Amino acid sequence: MKKNGLIIAIDGPAAVGKSTMGKLIARELDFLYIDTGAIYRAITWKVLKNNINVSDENIISNLVSDTCITIEKVDCKSLNDYCHIFVDGEDITEEIRNPKIDQNVSQIARLPKIRKQLIYLQRKLAEKGNIVMEGRDIGSVILPQSDIKFYFTASEEERIKRRYKELIDKGYSIDYEEVKKQIIQRDKIDSKRKSAPLIKAKDAILIDSTEKSIEEVKDNILKIIKKYRECREKTN
Ligand code: C5P
Repeated sequence: MKKNGLIIAIDGPAAVGKSTMGKLIARELDFLYIDTGAIYRAITWKVLKNNINVSDENIISNLVSDTCITIEKVDCKSLNDYCHIFVDGEDITEEIRNPKIDQNVSQIARLPKIRKQLIYLQRKLAEKGNIVMEGRDIGSVILPQSDIKFYFTASEEERIKRRYKELIDKGYSIDYEEVKKQIIQRDKIDSKRKSAPLIKAKDAILIDSTEKSIEEVKDNILKIIKKYRECREKTN
């Protein structure tokens, strides 16, 4: 892939804060933010809507070929409305955060054919450069040429607490134990699957956000990016 502008990759397990941080960094740098998890969620939304079995790889593959996914920057001031995702023209930004999607998304994301189909879309979205892209395999598979790769981590307990609070704040009535079960199961499927599992790329910088404030993590990341840019300017 031809490389334009700066590419920042963020990978890590579920509910580790990738989206919040990705949006904050993108906003600070005036970069495009691409949440690849939202793409897998969007496919899952359409699969469930059409009552398709989540392990039927061929039917899902046909559905992917027949689906138009677009991501649009909407309101840079609001982290919730920063980018919206559309499936065949329908805005499904809110629907894809439903716990029902959490329950099923990793079953679909583990299917090799589907991953292969979605690589093209993700690379196409990244083509313009000056992007922050987050997911599970960005630094390792989708954009191994990224300028800076971050791998986020936080304790399991902290991640479960964050996701539980997020869902409660959004008005879902969900049990803490159910959130715990879903996160553990999703991480297990995502890191054990054969096709592009969740791993830390060798050259990724580890960011542990346990017991750190959002501001602290953000400042640390921006410092790393600033240093990288200064170094690149000197050597160009
Ligand atoms: O990041 P988020 O939790 O929204 O991702 C939802 C799911 O999408 C993940 O649990 C994973 O199964 C899948 N995913 C993936 N590869 C990516 C991004 C997300 O497999 N690059």
